[in-house]
Amino acid sequence: MNRTLTCIGCPMGCQIEVELDEEGKFVSSKGWSCNIGKRYAQEEVTAPVRTVTALMEVADRSEPLSVKTAQPIPKGKIFDSLEQIKKIKVQAPVHIGDIVIENVCGTGIAVVATKNIL
Ligand code: SF4
Repeated sequence: MNRTLTCIGCPMGCQIEVELDEEGKFVSSKGWSCNIGKRYAQEEVTAPVRTVTALMEVADRSEPLSVKTAQPIPKGKIFDSLEQIKKIKVQAPVHIGDIVIENVCGTGIAVVATKNIL
């Protein structure tokens, strides 16, 4: 069984062919141009992850705070993470890199500010 993926590692968008065994387990991949694509292909068919970006409300401000997960999180946790982010209102001042959620949805991964709001 084969799967074709478009690598999301950079704008080149290499087409990667992934070979899976009868149980859907990773066997091999080809078509990537670098190790980022090679790693992406294996992760995408075993434990897919994504970096989540979102906007958070800031108390007493009309301007929202842009945030992202400090590392990619499991794809299955994306919508729950967005819900958690939506429910929280941060207090200014906030600086780029500040942790606004320590452990989003039990992933062990923080959500951090990507903008200054002074
Ligand atoms: S395999 Fe490498 S060069 Fe190709 S899209 Fe992915 S990151 Fe870019």
